[in-house]
Amino acid sequence: MNRVQQFASDNYAGICPEALEAMTLANAGSATAYGEDEWTQKAADAFRALFASDCDVYFVFNGTAANSLALASLCQSYHGVICSSSAHVETDECGAPEFFSNGSKLLLAPSDNGKITPDAIRALATGRSDIHFPKARVVTITQPTETGLVYSIEEVRAISAVCRELGLKLHMDGARFAHACASLGCSPAEITWQAGVDVLCFGGTKNGMAVGDAVIFFDRALAEDFSYRCKQAGQLASKMRYLSAPWVGMLESGAWLRNAAHGNACAASLAAQVADLPDIELIFPAEANAVFLSAPEAVLAELRARGWRFYTFIGGGARFMFAWDAMPEVVNDLAADIRAASALAGRRAA
Ligand SMILES: *Cc1c(COP(=O)(O)O)cnc(C)c1O
Repeated sequence: MNRVQQFASDNYAGICPEALEAMTLANAGSATAYGEDEWTQKAADAFRALFASDCDVYFVFNGTAANSLALASLCQSYHGVICSSSAHVETDECGAPEFFSNGSKLLLAPSDNGKITPDAIRALATGRSDIHFPKARVVTITQPTETGLVYSIEEVRAISAVCRELGLKLHMDGARFAHACASLGCSPAEITWQAGVDVLCFGGTKNGMAVGDAVIFFDRALAEDFSYRCKQAGQLASKMRYLSAPWVGMLESGAWLRNAAHGNACAASLAAQVADLPDIELIFPAEANAVFLSAPEAVLAELRARGWRFYTFIGGGARFMFAWDAMPEVVNDLAADIRAASALAGRRAA
């Protein structure tokens, strides 16, 4: 059965109207190349206004590039980057953070929910101080986590306090940063630089754009030579306006936050609709736009037979992700099918 919409990934979504319209506006005529255009200037200024900070802003093609190049700019090759064992930089970037930093090692903090704690950071940063082990230099956290959990402002503050004490920089992988802001109901500044974050990768792709993530340095000194890094890595778009203009549309219209709030609401709706089913468990609370369900294999097989696509690579359960375009009636269809699949599996087992 062909579904009108799938929730296997939030990257299945198309471009939201606000981003597309800005791209169309930017397409009227010619403009200076390599980021020297007025759209790129406007987008960077819009970020500075959004964060109430004189931050330095760069536009790259995707999250892997944003994370890898940001981390590389914080490290020498002999440094270590502390992250959760389930962090995207470790599990889904094909070694790009190590590659672009010429060998900085990722130091993994074991985690069963995706979050990293101040204690785990301290243990990794202070466990070895001899010359034979990489020197810890950076902590990276994912907000929201790959498991759909959101760090509170207090949690980020506690992490940045340990970082400051131990001389570590704090990087935030915000591939779904907007979803965290929508979930917390706080300003972008409160959960980043005001809480001690040095560099943020702000994802545009999963927020409704065609392509593109922004790298935001709250401490401009850390961005030294970052343009060269981007160029060398093949991340300097010659027609930069097509990466930057959509941000103007997203930020000025408020679509960045609306889109995220919609995804979060769809996740909360699905979670609520299946909460009473005896054999279905939420593996993680649905705090952002993800729902992770643990269910008997028979239920998952029945869902697949009903045409639903989903990944099962985290916790053995099914992951559903909701983007800006998630249709509430299709979310309801999915919930109804989960209910039906659960009842069917229960009857077969009896
Ligand atoms: C999607 C994602 C990224 C970026 O992935 P790309 O495919 O390189 O755009 C980075 N971090 C997290 C947590 C993600 O979910």
